[in-house]
Amino acid sequence: MKALVLHAVGNLRYEEVPLPEPGAGEVLVRVAYCGVCGSDIPRIFSKGTYRYPLIPGHEFAGVVERCGEGVSAFAPGDRVAVFPLVWCGRCAACEKGRYVQCEQYDYLGSRRDGAFADYVVAPARNLLRVPEGVSLQDAAMTEPASVALHALRRAGGCAPGEIVAVFGAGPIGLMTAMWARAMGASDVLLFDIVQEKLALAKSLGFERVHLSVQEDPQQVVAQMTNQQGAHLCIEAAGVPPTLLQACACARRGGRVVILGNPSADVTLPASLISQLMRREATLHGTWNSEYSVYSPDDDWHTALQAMASGKLRLQPLITHRVPLRRAVETLHAMREGKGFFCKVLIHPDGREED
Ligand SMILES: [Zn+2]
Ligand SMILES: [Zn+2]
Repeated sequence: MKALVLHAVGNLRYEEVPLPEPGAGEVLVRVAYCGVCGSDIPRIFSKGTYRYPLIPGHEFAGVVERCGEGVSAFAPGDRVAVFPLVWCGRCAACEKGRYVQCEQYDYLGSRRDGAFADYVVAPARNLLRVPEGVSLQDAAMTEPASVALHALRRAGGCAPGEIVAVFGAGPIGLMTAMWARAMGASDVLLFDIVQEKLALAKSLGFERVHLSVQEDPQQVVAQMTNQQGAHLCIEAAGVPPTLLQACACARRGGRVVILGNPSADVTLPASLISQLMRREATLHGTWNSEYSVYSPDDDWHTALQAMASGKLRLQPLITHRVPLRRAVETLHAMREGKGFFCKVLIHPDGREED
């Protein structure tokens, strides 16, 4: 099969590799689409993966090709989304079903082979059936949609009438804004420094988008909330200014969610710390997403259901669909910031599915 193989930091090659074999309890999935995650760019070009050679790619959906020994819940032809974290099943966190806190996890696309390929092997317990009416393109975005939902849920969700401010309008920031709106937020403000991102946000129906290099977010939020601040502030860019802004914009009793992967140290001014204290604001960390093999309310099932019901429409986020053979070039362009990218989906050569 064809795949993108990372041989060392920055050394990503499009090449022929052996078709993987599903072991006991595993499934061979024919990849339909695999999204490029914000984390894939540093993973490929600067931070590296846990071993080499390795096939990156963890946001994907596809069709079951073949089942390994003992797998009865799925059959060839089933359309599936795949939770990329392979939990150990033995540690204290796993016993509670909190797989993202697993102490000994494996991960498709960073620790074991992922889905920038024609096929990928995953444990059957990591597969979710894609509901009817949900395209495989949409299903490939279940992971980021779940991460965005998880961020809101970490902060107790968003109550109807609340004002939410999202700092960073990349795919995850936009999805967080979409969830907040779906939960009944009365206003969702989006801030970014890139005009195209805000234009896309606007096309999704978000009216309050602001270029934070031109308008001071704190002033914008203060003005629109009668100096009260936002109920919920989501930091979705991972840079120091946005974390400071998110903290500064939270109202009394407000919540701040730290969602973006940090790119640098942040110094919190004493005055801001004092404000957070006086306002009794709560800072929430969020990591990955909750996946359950028992509950239908976990982030993953909820995201797929929201796509099926039309509550979550992700299609407009897709700016690029790229065949594997051209993907290395595209990833370089993303890294260099050549052009505007929101969600980029990679698919096998010569094959595009719904
Ligand atoms: Zn991701
Ligand atoms: Zn575990």
